[in-house]
Amino acid sequence: MTTATPPTLAEIASCVSGYDPNALPVAQAQEFIARLVPRVQAVEMLAIRSALGRVLARDIVSAIDVPAHDNSAMDGYALRGSDLAASGDTVLQAVGTGFAGAQFDGSVAAGQCLRIMTGAVMPAGLDTVVPQEFTKADGTRVTVPAGVVRTGDNRRLAGEDLAMGEAALKAGRVLRPADLGLLASLGQAEVPVLRRLRVAFFSTGDELRSIGEPLDAGCVYDSNRYTLWGMLQRLGVDLIDMGVVRDDPAALESAFRHAAENADAVITSGGVSVGEADHTKQVMKTLGDVLFWRIAMRPGRPMAIGRITSRGHDAILFGLPGNPVAVMVTFYAFVRDALLAMSGAFVQPLPMLSAASTQPIRKKAGRTEYQRGIVSRSATGWQVEITGSQGSGILRSMSEANGLVVLHHEQGNVAAGELVDVLPFDGLV
Ligand code: AMP
Ligand code: MG
Repeated sequence: MTTATPPTLAEIASCVSGYDPNALPVAQAQEFIARLVPRVQAVEMLAIRSALGRVLARDIVSAIDVPAHDNSAMDGYALRGSDLAASGDTVLQAVGTGFAGAQFDGSVAAGQCLRIMTGAVMPAGLDTVVPQEFTKADGTRVTVPAGVVRTGDNRRLAGEDLAMGEAALKAGRVLRPADLGLLASLGQAEVPVLRRLRVAFFSTGDELRSIGEPLDAGCVYDSNRYTLWGMLQRLGVDLIDMGVVRDDPAALESAFRHAAENADAVITSGGVSVGEADHTKQVMKTLGDVLFWRIAMRPGRPMAIGRITSRGHDAILFGLPGNPVAVMVTFYAFVRDALLAMSGAFVQPLPMLSAASTQPIRKKAGRTEYQRGIVSRSATGWQVEITGSQGSGILRSMSEANGLVVLHHEQGNVAAGELVDVLPFDGLV
């Protein structure tokens, strides 16, 4: 992505209060990243059905009133509220029928009413609909018993759904099913959306083997590329899977250059720990403006962040740690919101549940911990149980969990029964 003159990392760091790259609180890291990432600009027009999940590029202003006319909300009789008797029954003369989509072209005088169907236009002067089941009809003589209806009941007003000139949907909205219906109700066939974000990702580490390869002694299969693929897929971005890249300076440089030239963001896993012997960090540094953070969190302490450049193109770099749980946690803590912001989406904090911990949890103040938990409903509300082993290499803990227990920076030990915040996976992954 190319922007005018993006701020340097040093400039951003100077704006983040309490910035300390060696013990960076999660909130400060999030603020830093929010200041760093640019937003896609290119707009494309799509048929509304193709726009599900895409980011709206401009406000959609309604050119019409929806509904266009006052109309009936019930099957019944349309009448004048002023004709209703102060006490006792009201007797009116039905002069015809109004159907939805076929306007009644007669007029309805005082003392008269119109049999009307749901969605039919209210004739001039009529302001109230009495549902059919409350009335007694004898030929064209309609009796409305006292108290079954008040003036204005069961009438839908013109423009009550969307008024002409009003913003029906705001730019930055990720389009959902109801929004497609809303656009259709405006008669809009196409909608302007931002182009999809392109995200490249690869794994680094000489011990990694890809599926289909024999597992040599001391090696592990590359699982991070699969969890990352799944998490990115849910964000609706375009993916460039670059496989496993060997710990070789030339191979790494060529991978980073390819990513910078072809993607808006590049996500790597592995090779960013302090004291890491491999070449990943070195190559990241030579290709761009990159910082190596130690974040006050668990799991997921080391992380590289910055911008890499090749031939005038650049990409935001998220260098995630290698441990499989740390990859997922850092993705949700930092990368998800950043990619949504880059996509042009209006980013809101993820909703959290408040759940009673079934057990005491040891927690050190001064870092954010993300523990894997199983949330369930108890007689008194939500409760959460921590899944067995919490090691950051134990991916099973993530697979068994249905949420992340978020133990905040300042929080200390948790007693059994105490309420904790939980980020549920449903709707997130
Ligand atoms: P690193 O951050 O490179 O020191 O890696 C930390 C741990 O995560 C090591 O045990 C690695 O073998 C493991 N690891 C790194 N990348 C992957 C991957 N793509 N899939 C599975 N495990 C990985
Ligand atoms: Mg490594």
